[in-house]
Amino acid sequence: MYVVTGATGQLGRLVVEGLLAAVPASEIAVVVRSAAKAEEWAEQGVRVHEADYGRPETLVGAFSAGDRVLLISGNEFGSRVSQHGAVIDAAKAAGVALLAYTSILGTATFRLGDEHKATEELLLGSGLPYALLRNGWYTENYLGDVAGTVERGVVLGSAGDGRVATAARKDYADAAVAVLTGEGHENRVYELSGDVAWSLSELAAELTEASGRPVEHRDVPAAAHREVLVGAGMPEGFAEVFVDVDAGIARGELAGTSGDLARLIGRPTVPLADSVRAALNA
Ligand code: NDP
Repeated sequence: MYVVTGATGQLGRLVVEGLLAAVPASEIAVVVRSAAKAEEWAEQGVRVHEADYGRPETLVGAFSAGDRVLLISGNEFGSRVSQHGAVIDAAKAAGVALLAYTSILGTATFRLGDEHKATEELLLGSGLPYALLRNGWYTENYLGDVAGTVERGVVLGSAGDGRVATAARKDYADAAVAVLTGEGHENRVYELSGDVAWSLSELAAELTEASGRPVEHRDVPAAAHREVLVGAGMPEGFAEVFVDVDAGIARGELAGTSGDLARLIGRPTVPLADSVRAALNA
């Protein structure tokens, strides 16, 4: 079986859709917190197992010997190492054939990467055949409120001229499908990122071009960036994480263009301009 955890998230949905296009539904299983969110897949023959990473007892029976599993990292910051550890333990107990994990680029030293690095250590220590999908940034991270950004005419950040080689979620999802369904990925580490690294000034130029309205890049010091984010309603902890990541981007930690992602998916990654246009038209 091909098993996807975190399947009802934004990345997970794309992975499951990719798997459905590649293999019979009867060979796919999803591990989800809410089976109700996976009903459509169940109707197509996908096996649905309800579990919470934070409750190890619910993971019993989630995996079987020989499964090829994608562990999609959770989003409960601070709890993720023990949560991911519980999934790794369950996969180990079941004797899965491969555990692929959505990690972070190896160059990242910002704090958000700490739980990923700790999870990688647990996975390597488990002795399971692994694949590390070290994901760079999603282009969509910058396009969640694209209408608001264009309306305000400002791309705000504290990353300076730092460049970031984003790719679309679909690119990373296709890579996960390629690793799950392909051969020779055991004990491999992939540094996944977009083909092109761009700066926030280039994003502002792209938004200007695509929307026909002036959008400028405004770089501010970290403290001011944090203040703006909190002022816009973001919880302090999240704002801290955002600003810390921008410092990492300024240091070039998300700018690598190894080409691993394009090689895995057998096509170029989705260009920034295409993602911008798709977001504006959505
Ligand atoms: P989402 O927040 O859309 O999805 C997260 C998924 O994890 C959801 O399916 C969620 O379940 C599941 N999940 C969270 N906690 C638990 C838990 N305790 N037990 C079981 N499942 C859990 O994120 P994305 O799909 O966009 O991204 C996937 C992951 O990548 C994120 O969780 C995060 O770790 C990381 N990420 C990477 C970014 C990047 O730019 N590379 C940016 C943002 C996040 P449910 O559907 O029930 O909510």
